[in-house]
Amino acid sequence: MHRTRVRIVEDALDANNTIARANRDDFDRHGVGVVNLMSAPGAGKTTLRERALDDLPGVRVGVLEGDVAGSFDADRLSLLHIPVAQLNTGAGFGGECHLDANMVRTALPALPLAELDLLVIENVGNLVCPAEFRVGEDARIMVCSVTEGEDKPLKYPLMFRACELVLVNKIDLLPHLDFDLDLFLHHLDAVNPGARKLLVSARTGDGVEEWREWLYYTAQGAKATA
Ligand code: MG
Ligand code: ZN
Repeated sequence: MHRTRVRIVEDALDANNTIARANRDDFDRHGVGVVNLMSAPGAGKTTLRERALDDLPGVRVGVLEGDVAGSFDADRLSLLHIPVAQLNTGAGFGGECHLDANMVRTALPALPLAELDLLVIENVGNLVCPAEFRVGEDARIMVCSVTEGEDKPLKYPLMFRACELVLVNKIDLLPHLDFDLDLFLHHLDAVNPGARKLLVSARTGDGVEEWREWLYYTAQGAKATA
């Protein structure tokens, strides 16, 4: 890459990190734990989240839904009667294929932070650039489904390396696929040995309780440090 272009990219990421810290301060002040949920399109983020957020005991949850266009996922979530803010990158942000700290910042007034313990930010479905932009979150979660192939961690190492938790979704389909789960986990270990891994099925509910516990403790941790 040309040196000037490297400089421009670095400056853009510096500016993003400054705004991410401002978001972080707002979240801390209100004792809100924040997770940034990332995946390829169709990995099952929305269904998994519906399963996990429904009636999480003692945790007041809000959602920031990022999409290029439309509000299909936000409409589904509103059925759970939790605060949902829709952020369309196609409306004012040039149709960006990721969320950045500034986009999240512009959406924060639409959320009652003082009344939340946990904010789940659903990023735009994309395995490349969401990993480059911190938005002020406590943790990044990646959802990868077993229909995506064992080599995904090797093809998108930045994304897999960026995450504290990897949810391996759709495990109910394993008997019908040639997917080699051990090989996938081996590749995942190669790029991110420290990541927590949970095998889940949004359809059957397998592993969802463990994910709910993980979210619960993330929210509790934020409250304790507020
Ligand atoms: Mg979705
Ligand atoms: Zn992007």
